[in-house]
Amino acid sequence: MLTYEDFCLRAAEVEARIAAAAHAAGRPAGSVRLLPVTKTHPAEAAAHAARRGFAAVAENRVQEAAAKRPLAPAALRWELIGHLQSNKARLATETFDRIQSVDSEKLLRHLDRAAVELGRPLAVLLQINAGRDPAKFGAELEDAPRLLDTALACPALRVEGLMTIAPLGATPDETAEHARRTFATLRELRDALADRARVALPELSMGMSGDLELAVAAGGTCVRVGTALFGAR
Ligand SMILES: *Cc1c(COP(=O)(O)O)cnc(C)c1O
Repeated sequence: MLTYEDFCLRAAEVEARIAAAAHAAGRPAGSVRLLPVTKTHPAEAAAHAARRGFAAVAENRVQEAAAKRPLAPAALRWELIGHLQSNKARLATETFDRIQSVDSEKLLRHLDRAAVELGRPLAVLLQINAGRDPAKFGAELEDAPRLLDTALACPALRVEGLMTIAPLGATPDETAEHARRTFATLRELRDALADRARVALPELSMGMSGDLELAVAAGGTCVRVGTALFGAR
């Protein structure tokens, strides 16, 4: 586990990358939030993030986050970015403040029921397979309007926007090209959905350690970064 000082150096580097990309895109530096991804790292990683002033961290597995959260500062918020099965919706709703990986109507209904039972609203993003990657989770682009309609009809869920993961290519150039296209597609989809349903969907969660500049250029508002902050997993 890296020291707090090393973490701070890495965080400053990533923040500088985000600021440069925002500047190049003519966007205010504060329009992109850095979300540290602590998966596979000990609870100390979340403590480092909290100490440096990050409001939230992200995890990709429910059980792992449920085990670590009690060990981290209580004010820290936790977001789920990994695939979620409906039978874990209850524990996920108890464990996370926001779930970014909602990709089916069945899951929406389970989460809504759990949030109603817990007596508090749950923030969600809809995960879209905007790169049409057969290896990735996420709703198909064609299913997004119906998924949004279902989400908006869930009384205990607050839909804040969309999330995606870009597919890898065979070469760095191809990977970058996929990322550019995937992020542009997610943004266009968001604009179309917001227009059609007449709701604000302000959050576009896209970009990771390797492609965050491309996500910021395409209008991303939340970049999820693990490796560049905490080292290789
Ligand atoms: C692990 C993960 C990340 C962070 O990836 P890095 O390349 O380590 O920055 C971002 N998003 C999702 C969905 C992840 O599972």
